Amino acid sequence: MKTALTVAGSDPSGGAGLQADLKVFRSFGIHGLAVVSAMTAQNSEGVDAVLPVDTDFVERQLHALLSDIKPQATKSGMLYKKTTVEIFAAVLRKYSLNNLVLDPVIVSTSGMSLVEAGTLDSMRDVLFPLSRVITPNIHEASLLSGITIENEKDMKAAVKELKRMGPEAVVITGGHLSATAADLYCDGEIHVLDGSRMEGEYHGTGCAFSSAVTALLALDYSPLEAAKRAKEFVRNAMEKAYHPGKGMAFLHI
Ligand code: PLP
Repeated sequence: MKTALTVAGSDPSGGAGLQADLKVFRSFGIHGLAVVSAMTAQNSEGVDAVLPVDTDFVERQLHALLSDIKPQATKSGMLYKKTTVEIFAAVLRKYSLNNLVLDPVIVSTSGMSLVEAGTLDSMRDVLFPLSRVITPNIHEASLLSGITIENEKDMKAAVKELKRMGPEAVVITGGHLSATAADLYCDGEIHVLDGSRMEGEYHGTGCAFSSAVTALLALDYSPLEAAKRAKEFVRNAMEKAYHPGKGMAFLHI
């Protein structure tokens, strides 16, 4: 059986973070590996608190795992600490993990910061050049590119700017920007991945999208084909979404 690794935060509600990633991997028939980089206290209404795991212990988890098992693809989610970003980059090099999907998690839907100061710069400088695909949403793409995205023209400028920073491909997930909820994909050439917008607040769509791309890369799809299929996967999961609590809808994965 193929394996994929997520290095991500824990979400006790199971809607986002490593819990969601593992479910997505499994639904593509892949064995999931998970290294915990942060813990959160949260529910369907939002994130209450964050506790980062010490970078030394993230490193211990990675070495213990990777000295034994080599995943076909890897994703990172909520790394939180700048030092964790730096150690993760060193580990990717040491174990030649070159099928990386970077989900640059910065802030929760409910507004809680999911990174410490300085982490964004490190993500850009040390992880972008090691990534096959980065999957920012509009807000993350604005912060990382320095271009405030208010329309499709801004989105195009941002996707090109992010591509210039070193990843093999960039997908900006469109979410709320347009009626078509179009994603913009760039590997040098720009592709518009059309969809259709769904009303309501959904928890964990970014995590589900990036882990589906990771699973599809592990299954040897190209980054563009992986992005297209992952978009369809998330759309289907949103159509069957449910409400386990008082807040946001959860994807049916
Ligand atoms: N918690 C964890 C551990 C996450 O990784 C993320 C997003 O990636 C979130 C919460 C935020 O999820 P949402 O944007 O649905 O609030």
